[in-house]
Formats: sequence, C-alpha cells, structure tokens
Amino acid sequence: MISEKMKPYVKNNSAIRMMFEEGNRLRAKYGADKVFDFSLGNPSVPAPDSVRKAIIELVNTTDPTVLHGYMSNAGFEDVRQTIAESLNRRFDTKFSAKNLIMTVGAASGLNVILKTILNPGEEVIVFAPYFLEYGAYVRNYDGVLVEISPDTTTFQPNLAEFEQKITPKTRAVIVNTPHNPTGVVYSEETIKKLSAILEAKQKEFGTVIYLISDEPYRELAYDGVEVPYLTKYYNNTVVGYSYSKSLSLPGERIGYLVIPDEADGSEELISAATIANRTLGCVNAPSLIQKVVAKCVDAKTDLAAYDKNRQALYDGLKECGFECIKPQGAFYLFVKSPVEDEKAFCEAGKKYNILMVPGSSFACPGYVRLAYCVSYETIVNSLPEFKKLAAEYGL
Ligand code: PLP
Repeated sequence: MISEKMKPYVKNNSAIRMMFEEGNRLRAKYGADKVFDFSLGNPSVPAPDSVRKAIIELVNTTDPTVLHGYMSNAGFEDVRQTIAESLNRRFDTKFSAKNLIMTVGAASGLNVILKTILNPGEEVIVFAPYFLEYGAYVRNYDGVLVEISPDTTTFQPNLAEFEQKITPKTRAVIVNTPHNPTGVVYSEETIKKLSAILEAKQKEFGTVIYLISDEPYRELAYDGVEVPYLTKYYNNTVVGYSYSKSLSLPGERIGYLVIPDEADGSEELISAATIANRTLGCVNAPSLIQKVVAKCVDAKTDLAAYDKNRQALYDGLKECGFECIKPQGAFYLFVKSPVEDEKAFCEAGKKYNILMVPGSSFACPGYVRLAYCVSYETIVNSLPEFKKLAAEYGL
C-alpha cells in the first residue's frame, strides 16, 4: 500500500524503534536506575528558566490573535531581526531580518533549503560519519547523496577524497560542526581548506555549490574551543540552526535558516525558501516559541552539566581500555568497537543494560555512539558495567 520511496525508511525505522522498545523493556524489568541508555540525543538539561518565564509573560501580555496567529511564512519580522542582531554581535556578520527564515527545527530547515536548490539527479556531499536522516532529506527532492569516507584518526573531513568527488552535478555539501556522532569541532584550518576547494571547483565547473552548515550543536562546545561561523569563510554558505539542543527545546520544533546577501542568488533563494517552508506543509515555524526564543536570545544551557558528563564518561571509558577521540562539542562520544562487528558489541552491551547506537547508523561501522545527555548518576553507575563489558574483550 505504501510507496516504493517509503519502503526503505520503514525498514530502517524498525531498527530504531527496536532500540527504543529495548530501552523500555529493560527499564520495566530492572528499574530505570539500572538501565544505562546512551542511545538518545534528547537533552537531559532542562530548558533555562528564562524560557518558562518568557512563555508565561508572552501568554499573559500578548494579543492572542497575534501570538497564535499566522504571520509571514518566513516568521515574525521582529523575531528574525532580534536573532540577526544577536548573530551580528557574536560573529561580526551583517545579517538583517530578511536573511533569516524561521523553521520547524534544523530538520525542517534542511528540507526547506534542499527543496529550494535541488534538481533531480543533483548531488549532495556528506562526510561520514553523518546524521543518517540527511540521506532521506536529499532523496525527498530526488537528489543523490554522495558519501565521503571517514578519517578515523581525527574525524575531521577527509578533504583529499572530497576534492575528488566534487563533480559538475554537485549542488551542495552538508557539514555539521560540532558534530554528531563524534563530538568533533571542525577547525578553522579545515574550514579554510574546505572553502578553498569549493571556490576552486565552482570556478573549474562554472557552477554554484552551496555549503549547508547544519548546526544544532553550535552552543555546545567545551574547553573554550571556537566554532568558526562558516558564512565568513565561504560566500555560498547557508546556515541551518536549531534551538533543540541549545535551549533544550527539541519538542517545540524551532530553528532558522540564514541565507546571507553574499550567497549567489540570495534574494531568489530567500523568497523560494520562504515558499518552500509553506509548501512543505510547515507554513511557518510555531508562533509562540518564535517569540520565546527571541526573548531568550542570550539565554544559555547548562553547559557545565554536559561537560561534567563528558569528562566522567571519557575518562571512565579510557580507564576501561576503550579507544575514543575526546569530543570538544555536542553531547556524544564515538567509541571504537573492540570488534569489527560493532552491532555484536552493542548486543553484548545489553547484557549489562548498556544501550549504544551502532556506528553503521551513521555510515561508520566499527564504532558506537554514546549520547551522554543523561544524568551524571547514570554515567557514574554505568562505569562498573562498562568495565565488565571491556573485560569480555580482554581490554
Ligand atoms: N542535524 C543533526 C546533526 C542532528 O543531530 C539533529 C538532531 O539530533 C538534527 C539535525 C535535527 O534537529 P532538530 O531537532 O532541530 O530538527
């Protein structure tokens, strides 16, 4: 009954659903405190209190026909202007309201921009490991996903292979930094090299290649590391931002796209993306929460809580003998599986009530992802279990 296009997604989804159900089964059997579920990227830190206060104030003081009404498909103008000014202060950019389109989270922002730019058969390059939904988003518009294999020493993008795989059909490149699933932050050196390659290829082929910066984890960066703002390095950059992690609002579905004036065809892109927002069925981003994020434009999540988890889990796993690159951002650790078949390793973890996501779910087998957006106690209590798991592999 369902379309051919949907069938592979339904098949893949059952693996994710099985993991979710496994977590619930283990929690029901052993109690929530005995299950070490590192599978979900759902923020464990609550939204800042300023979010709650902003919701109450807005509901109490704003005309409901405005607060809950339709607005321009790009979002409230005052909200977009407030965010643009905040970006300008932070990154020395020159955006105004017209450069921003409020979206239903990063997922919808990516769909909007891909719908806006992709013709059937055009290619979108991604760097493994990557958020697997990118493949679905690109295929939504009959694009072709082109994967670059991982550099497993640094998990910075493999630029030599990248350069070779750009073709006259390359329409866009998606990067994600801070990165899911490795926690790596792409260095300024990486960004400069990547931009230079793109500039050269645009010239060589006489094409326009958009760099899509998917940045739901921008604010989650540790050790004072800088996360370069990509529009400053490459003119044809489009930023897809989300408040899902930065303000712990994933269920509220709010984010934005930035399309700078410097991007080729900027005006046309902005108006087409605004229409795409509508025709994709989002119409506009949710109205109340648009106003909330504008009021909380300088609010910050409790980064120290994630940092404490990061240190404890990283140190604990290293002590067990596991291999892992120390993440500088997001809330994930990407651990090398002690055996080639990382799915077997994930299965073995379940004996100790440890739930991990296989790297093949990010196009990078041989590794597992641990989301440390859990309580600190979960991490502390999981470490003796990781020790037993490590012992099984002679670590
Ligand atoms: N991109 C990456 C890399 C993600 O990890 C996620 C969510 O986890 C998203 C996009 C989607 O985020 P949103 O909730 O803003 O749609």
